[in-house]
Amino acid sequence: MDLLIGTSNKGKLEEFQMMLGSLPVHLLGLKDVGLGDMDVAEDAGTLEGNAELKVRAYSKASGLVTLADDTGLEIDALGGEPGIYPARYGGSHLTMADRRQKVLSQLVDVPDEQRAARFICVIALADPRTDELITVRGICPGRIAQAEDTSGGGFGYDPVFIPEGYDRTFSSLPPEEKNRISHRGRASQLLLESLSRLAAASG
Ligand code: IMP
Repeated sequence: MDLLIGTSNKGKLEEFQMMLGSLPVHLLGLKDVGLGDMDVAEDAGTLEGNAELKVRAYSKASGLVTLADDTGLEIDALGGEPGIYPARYGGSHLTMADRRQKVLSQLVDVPDEQRAARFICVIALADPRTDELITVRGICPGRIAQAEDTSGGGFGYDPVFIPEGYDRTFSSLPPEEKNRISHRGRASQLLLESLSRLAAASG
């Protein structure tokens, strides 16, 4: 079964490829189906609402079974900011590196025990043939690092997020380890059964 992943983010697409690799599905990104420039207003005000807006728009436009995710980052010492719009944190003129620095500069001298944070991921899955829509939520608790980790890979806030139970950032974890414990990994695990069923129904 072809499965459209509603993202143009290469890092995210690779993660889904790893997390769903055991299923009989062929993953496609938005660019693969000519929807790379399609913009969906993410103005629902909740992660569930935004994931649903995206998945409905992309599945309708492509006619494919589609999955779309929306991620929030809550930092307790910042009153829950960046919240449900981490990609916009600090304004549209900032780069992701600027946003990470903005987070770190607001937490100078804040001790580890007060740096609690969590990623929250909602994934919506839509089947345009039946109008079926499923949403799941995965949470990864952790804390914000004292400094940016420049040694590893990853994307977004990976270089400044240390998952609970670890002493290194998402950036420095092997990808399969990050995918096992991450917000997106946990949400994806909850979808495996539904995806297997849809793939079986597709023949
Ligand atoms: P989106 O809703 O998945 O597009 O993510 C919103 C923001 O959160 C973007 O700025 C991403 O870079 C960031 N983000 C989402 N997932 C991760 C992750 O696994 N690690 C680091 N940053 C992430």
